[in-house]
Amino acid sequence: MKNKNMNNIINHLKKFGFVYQSSKIYGGLANTWDYGHLGILLIKNIKNLWWKEFITKSNNVIGLESKIILNNKVWEASGHISNFLDSLIENKVNGKRYRVDHIIKKINPSINIEKLSNLEIETWIKKNVKKWENEKTNWGKIKKFNLMFETYQGPVVDLKSKVYLRPEIAQGIFINFMNIQRTSRLKIPFGVGQIGKSFRNEVTPRNFIFRTREFEQMELEYFVKPGEDEKIYNEYINKVENFLKILGLKNTTRKKHNNKELAHYAKATTDIEYDFPFGKGELLGISNRTDYDLKNHAKHSGKKIEYKDPNTNEKYIPYVIEPSIGVDRLMLALLIDAYKIEELKNDKRIILKLDKKIAPYKIAVVPLNKKNHSKFAKKILNILLNKNISTTYDENGSIGRRYRRQDAIGTPYVITIIDKTKKEKKVTIRHRDTMKQEEIFLDEIDKYL
Ligand code: ATP
Repeated sequence: MKNKNMNNIINHLKKFGFVYQSSKIYGGLANTWDYGHLGILLIKNIKNLWWKEFITKSNNVIGLESKIILNNKVWEASGHISNFLDSLIENKVNGKRYRVDHIIKKINPSINIEKLSNLEIETWIKKNVKKWENEKTNWGKIKKFNLMFETYQGPVVDLKSKVYLRPEIAQGIFINFMNIQRTSRLKIPFGVGQIGKSFRNEVTPRNFIFRTREFEQMELEYFVKPGEDEKIYNEYINKVENFLKILGLKNTTRKKHNNKELAHYAKATTDIEYDFPFGKGELLGISNRTDYDLKNHAKHSGKKIEYKDPNTNEKYIPYVIEPSIGVDRLMLALLIDAYKIEELKNDKRIILKLDKKIAPYKIAVVPLNKKNHSKFAKKILNILLNKNISTTYDENGSIGRRYRRQDAIGTPYVITIIDKTKKEKKVTIRHRDTMKQEEIFLDEIDKYL
């Protein structure tokens, strides 16, 4: 999507308070962003819809909230301590480190780095990459770098107190599998969903909130009988695409991972990609994680982790289908998709065409004339707020500017309080996308929501 300018979008989101540069008064912190009120409202709407579509609407999917810091053995068993590594190489000319896979992918994407030793890759890069990011190169040795954030638990800082911030939320579900199964008494197939923060010490966080070191995920682990995994995996790809449509995001594409792209735990993965202004990128992924995680937790903990079919008494370790969505990345795609500049007759307007289900405010109430109509407008505002409708109020500046402001933050309807409102109970309702206005009775507002 080359026709949208990322900087313009970022500036717009900063200007209206969706996003702030984090720690700005101290010069910021690399690629770290705080979310303002409008950003939070949007995120909450996205998360609530996810919960509704994947959990509330299913009679066999339930929720969990596990912790960010878990016993280190969880990460040994999951393979994150030994496998969650990026290979980095340093350009000694500028002292910067780069991801080896990124360099190779850009210079010669047909090379399968999984099949090469570190020495072979290093020799190849030294021979073939004489310039990188406009800088001459003098490459050092390849070093492995674990993406997990480390910290220390308790007052003593030593190896024994070292713990990790979770790099994915899935493991909290796997280690609770027996608890959940026992207390919920759900029969396979069943799913467990969770929303929460994950942390990855990304080497090159970039592209605004697309890749950050702290981010939020919405994940579902759906436990199935081995043999039924492929069918359900395909069903979840469709379900996730349908969810994106419900949010108003239509232009996404599927990308199936080939063998060399699969994570260490996966039998199959399909990414759903979106065409960002900086290029196509993964929005979310659906993976068939097989029984890899449960099996490894059983092995490392020495505890029995299995499912007994109550009808046949057959015992097995279930397979897992996982749709995993990054909340921040999805919000970014939705905002980019919604951002439009419209040329008008003598003017232009910036508009966020967010679906009304996720728009931060559903309605703005504005008095046509502050002096004459503001008292009654505030009454109507309070009626809408008491009905739990996300509503904002604006009485400052010309009416035209107030409409533009609501367009810019994606409010689908503006209710204008006019002379007729008090006596005849009539207001005008302005539609964001068409800018059309019509007179309606006050009690008709609900039907637009
Ligand atoms: P990538 O290839 O972009 O690093 P990944 O394949 O490692 O992503 P997963 O482990 O599959 O990502 O995580 C599931 C989802 O979590 C991703 O599809 C993305 O939406 C989100 N995600 C992963 N890493 C980040 C990050 N650093 N910042 C923001 N969101 C992220």
